Amino acid sequence: MATYVIGFPRIGEQRELKRALEAYWSGKISQDELKKTASELRKRHWIYQKNAGIDLISINDFSFYDNMLDTSIMLNAIPQKYKDIENELDRYFAMARGDATHKAQEMTKWFNTNYHYIVPELSEDMDFKPNIEKIKEEYKEAKELGIEPKVNLIGPITFVKLSKVKGDEKAIIEKLIPVYKEIIQELKKLNPQIIIQMDEPYFVTNPTKEDLELLEKVYNELAKDANIYVATYFEHSNEANEVLAKTPIKGMFLDFVHGSENSIKALVDAGKEVGIGIVNGRNVWVNDIEKSAAFVKGLTEAVDSDKVHIGSSCSLLHVPYTLKYETKMDEDIKSWISYALEKLDEIRVINKLVKDEELSEYDKEVLEGNKLAIATRKTSKKIHDPIVQDRVSNLTEKDKKRSVPFEERIKLQHENLKYPILPTTTIGSFPQTPELRKLRRDYKNGVISEEKYKSKIKEMIKECVEFQESIDLDVLVHGEFERNDMVEYFGEQLNGVAFSQNGWVQSYGSRCVKPPLIYGDVSRPKDMTVEWITYAQSLTDKPMKGMLTGPVTMLNWSFVRDDQSKKTTAYQMALAIRDEVEALEAAGIKVIQVDEAALREGYPLRNEKRADYEDWAITSFRITTSVVKPETQIHTHMCYSEFSDIMDAIEAMDADVISIENARSDNSLLKIFKERGYKGEIGPGVYDIHSPRVPSKEEIVEQINAILEVLPAKKVWVNPDCGLKTRKWEEVKPSLKNMVDAAKEVREKLK
Ligand code: GLN
Ligand code: ZN
Repeated sequence: MATYVIGFPRIGEQRELKRALEAYWSGKISQDELKKTASELRKRHWIYQKNAGIDLISINDFSFYDNMLDTSIMLNAIPQKYKDIENELDRYFAMARGDATHKAQEMTKWFNTNYHYIVPELSEDMDFKPNIEKIKEEYKEAKELGIEPKVNLIGPITFVKLSKVKGDEKAIIEKLIPVYKEIIQELKKLNPQIIIQMDEPYFVTNPTKEDLELLEKVYNELAKDANIYVATYFEHSNEANEVLAKTPIKGMFLDFVHGSENSIKALVDAGKEVGIGIVNGRNVWVNDIEKSAAFVKGLTEAVDSDKVHIGSSCSLLHVPYTLKYETKMDEDIKSWISYALEKLDEIRVINKLVKDEELSEYDKEVLEGNKLAIATRKTSKKIHDPIVQDRVSNLTEKDKKRSVPFEERIKLQHENLKYPILPTTTIGSFPQTPELRKLRRDYKNGVISEEKYKSKIKEMIKECVEFQESIDLDVLVHGEFERNDMVEYFGEQLNGVAFSQNGWVQSYGSRCVKPPLIYGDVSRPKDMTVEWITYAQSLTDKPMKGMLTGPVTMLNWSFVRDDQSKKTTAYQMALAIRDEVEALEAAGIKVIQVDEAALREGYPLRNEKRADYEDWAITSFRITTSVVKPETQIHTHMCYSEFSDIMDAIEAMDADVISIENARSDNSLLKIFKERGYKGEIGPGVYDIHSPRVPSKEEIVEQINAILEVLPAKKVWVNPDCGLKTRKWEEVKPSLKNMVDAAKEVREKLK
């Protein structure tokens, strides 16, 4: 029985790699200096793992940018357009982030995480061949520290399935088999017994029969005379487990946190080794060590214990490094969480308990601390608020349903709001200038008074409202100047939500995020946005939209507590935000937008779990929004356009108006509306805000006309895509003016 982790974070506990990367990109340090930092970080991370008693320590989990991109390099899957760049590392960065003359490869989310990978571009005619210099170097470094490492590779099927493929997927996978074989032979030259972890998480996402046939074929070939362990994570992979049991692989590393349905029977019966990934690599709450040990014991009673290993559910990449820099965090909350380093201790102690091995003094301390944390979490007043719990248990159907059906209330809203046909609006934010960021920082750091801060923000709101009136927009916004982030802004004002000082998690490349910690029952002690929005409304006779972040998005971008169901936490969040909706309405706001930017990415990876997610996610949105009068208009916004498989769910949210990102997607969204229609009013973005270019009026007219071909004019709103806050005023002003003028021109023709 051994301990392992699937992978370890690499950005550095003080984000050293981020700093070095950015310094290199801006020409401040040399390539050698960057490589030196990388090497030092790798060593530090291996030593951490070694000292914590982890037996199987990975190499090749390090990356300058992303492991999928590393795999492209390993397989020489380099598109022609980058071949003119001589320097290897610069070519690598050009593929990742572009340079003056090269466009970057696309980036997208790694399964249902907030980590983004660089999407490989593959074609059948590529000259695939092995390049394992990076791995060799890391192997040598690890050996120097006395570590015999396992090598992490992304398996060929997951690699290809997640790529953009020109030509036949299967043909490419078949072409890659000999390349992987060669790589394995090369690795065996380093050590004939070398352990190779092949990541195939693709197989947790409802693989087809053909996928499974391919899986069998690939691993029959690759695992013939090598120590191959296939890792799946983020869900169970029962279908794959059964197939792989028939191949010569040594074993599998499985996720027992998210894939609690994981079956190991087929694997065990076939004599395979099984890694029980019981320590959560995706969330930060302490593991219940004794409970996990008992679980593993039960699971493995009938099994040769040499064949069972204990580790993390997935790479620890998705959690922060260490609690040691959390000097300001509430001591209780701190005792309830584990970052990567603390998780290593959990893995070691669980392993010892399962094996009935004697605990060291330090192990005992870890275990005692853990038991105490588990106990206090059950009863702490910081977590448990009976009032909130009662509110959730007293929810009734009435709380989840608007009082009047859409067809009736939309008429009342038109009377109430009096907007024209093809009404114009924006998604909420306006440019965030450096001065604005400084203002918020100064306020946060106590450099300026609250009074000064508020008056400055109000000045900006006023200017923003005046601008919107000057171009004749129909439904206005206040501009969101007081927010640096749509989740953090609300999280900071809610009970039950905490923030870390150093809880950084890599999002992509050098970029990290610090997700809020939803640790306890959530409630809203006081108004969060009312002052700003009523001030904005006082400046205009046009309707002012109140802007809120929805409950599902709040959850999907946070570390969510694991001591109650996500549904319960979502309902608590929904009620807290509902309180703000009510307050806005009471203060005279007639249009309220509840953004659910992250609803889509919260979808489970397995089809059989979708219905449950949709049920609580949609219900949460409805709890938040159903409280308003029929004549109050509810908007929502979503940042993506792949809607074909979730249209029913979107419609079931029962918003009156939905704005959707559209401009970058070749109107793919519109095809769906054409095919199936849509109940409510809709604002598909009419121009792409991701570029500084100002779209002409003519261009926008054309776009509106394209929309009118698939949607009746009386349902269409005219708005840009989201993200105005990332643009400059010089770009936003003319663009929006052209948009309003375009809407007017089309309106005239409709008369
Ligand atoms: N209201 C937010 C904004 O305009 C929405 C952000 C988003 O869509 N992610 O910035
Ligand atoms: Zn958006």
